Amino acid sequence: MGARTGSEFLEGLRKNPPNLYIDGVRVTDPTTHPATRNVAHSIARLYDLQHDPQLQDVLTYEENGQRYGMSFLIPRSKEDLRRRAAMHKAWADDCLGFMGRTPDYLNVNLMAAAMAAEYFNRCEGSGEPGSGRNYGENMRRYYEFVREHDLCLTHALTNPQVNRSVGASQLPDPYIALGIVRETEEGVVMRGARMMATLPIADEILIFPSTVLKENEDKSKYAMAFAIPTSTPGLYFQCREPLDIGRDPEDHPLGARYDEQDAFVIFDDVLVPWERIFLLYDVKLANQAYGQTGAVLHMAHQVVCGKIAKTEALLGAAQSIVNAIGSGVFQHVQQKVSEFIVTLEILRALEIAAVEGATPNAYGVMTPARGPLDAARNYYPQVYPRLNELIQLLGASGIIMMPTRADREGPMGPHIAKYLQAGNASAEERLRLFRLAWDMTLSSFGARQNLYEKHFFGDPVRMQCALYEIYDKQPFVDRIHAFLERSAESAVAAD
Ligand SMILES: Cc1cc2nc3c(=O)[nH]c(=O)nc-3n(C[C@H](O)[C@H](O)[C@H](O)COP(=O)(O)OP(=O)(O)OC[C@H]3O[C@@H](n4cnc5c(N)ncnc54)[C@H](O)[C@@H]3O)c2cc1C
Repeated sequence: MGARTGSEFLEGLRKNPPNLYIDGVRVTDPTTHPATRNVAHSIARLYDLQHDPQLQDVLTYEENGQRYGMSFLIPRSKEDLRRRAAMHKAWADDCLGFMGRTPDYLNVNLMAAAMAAEYFNRCEGSGEPGSGRNYGENMRRYYEFVREHDLCLTHALTNPQVNRSVGASQLPDPYIALGIVRETEEGVVMRGARMMATLPIADEILIFPSTVLKENEDKSKYAMAFAIPTSTPGLYFQCREPLDIGRDPEDHPLGARYDEQDAFVIFDDVLVPWERIFLLYDVKLANQAYGQTGAVLHMAHQVVCGKIAKTEALLGAAQSIVNAIGSGVFQHVQQKVSEFIVTLEILRALEIAAVEGATPNAYGVMTPARGPLDAARNYYPQVYPRLNELIQLLGASGIIMMPTRADREGPMGPHIAKYLQAGNASAEERLRLFRLAWDMTLSSFGARQNLYEKHFFGDPVRMQCALYEIYDKQPFVDRIHAFLERSAESAVAAD
């Protein structure tokens, strides 16, 4: 089948709807439910772009006469990484970077994991006869399956936030965190919950190991990796309150299109078939799965491309506000817009450095360089709140005093047209722009974006600690010591 269309994606959701609960009610059709239909159509639009003659070669690649989504490409060269980056950027541009979990994010995860099949083949399961199955082969076949059907995946990595000072086994119930219950002939029964899955309107959910496990020396029921359809019996997605509240897209330009939803994922004794198990019980392999397979770097590369698109959009909005109200004559305004430019150029440079410094990994996959990507994923969560603040400082009262389209078309229309016009635009044009700036930074949708940027790739504190741990600082320490010794020697010589 290969690269699919938007209507095929929507049809898949209609046929096998995920078990979503919103406001106490089961969503029977996410393509028509008011809280999810718009984002479902926004994702469908991305799939349709794969068939746009202008974009086909950017968004898809050909293999054995079949076209596949570019994010499934196995990069063998830096040029392949550049091709894939152009794909990530094109999808992100379509939503101004305001959907974080477009399907390419997990497609590159799957690609890297499948190429590292040997890694998963090392897993022996519980050690019981029949438990240590061919997990690497399962991983590889699953990637082929998802690529062939161009499926959309969601994922959930972290345990519920009950008590972070103790391990999963010390919580009031050993199955609050997702755990393995038992092995059967057909598969493995899983029980418990995972904290967060963005974009639950997906075909499948990928459960991968993320948080560092210390439960036992080498076996833990909390160590696992698998994937199942989102419609699997016993699997539930409890969604948060919708941010798409049915408003006109002119009034809520982002919230009425791109509310990806975030869901709490509950496994009520879910049977995962053996062929969908990629890792079981092995703490060491679980703890290193993202790093050793290279998946985290391919995902970080997708992220940086998306953040470039988002920063370009924020810069475009900031400069449009400045143009609209004629504030560009003030130096501090120019300095504020320059902050967007600096952020953008830093991200672009880091993306280029990641590709230029790429090397093949142990599995023959051209893998972007770690240093620039670690810098980017630690940098953006820090700078994003500042970009929001800058939009608010530049827009001031303009990004809150925004009558709706209904107001504009109502009896106050002539007054609105007169008093809310811009120096270079009509009131209608000005209000559309300021509503976009509001939805980017100030609305409920914008506030969730702010939280998302801080946390979506993990706890910012632990990410910085991890960078501190792995970054080779010794050459610089040695240089300082060599310099100090040289200074001491010159002082002796001068005596
Ligand atoms: C909008 C949004 C969307 C998300 N989407 C997804 C998704 O699609 N898939 C997914 O898997 N995850 C997703 N996440 C979850 C994300 O991975 C986590 O938020 C992140 O890893 C932090 O974990 P936590 O939220 O459980 O915070 P916690 O781990 O509970 O941290 C809470 C506080 O305690 C501190 N803390 C806790 N434990 C430690 C420790 N061991 N050492 C030091 N400090 C500690 C933290 O620094 C923080 O200040 C999403 C998060 C958000 C906010």
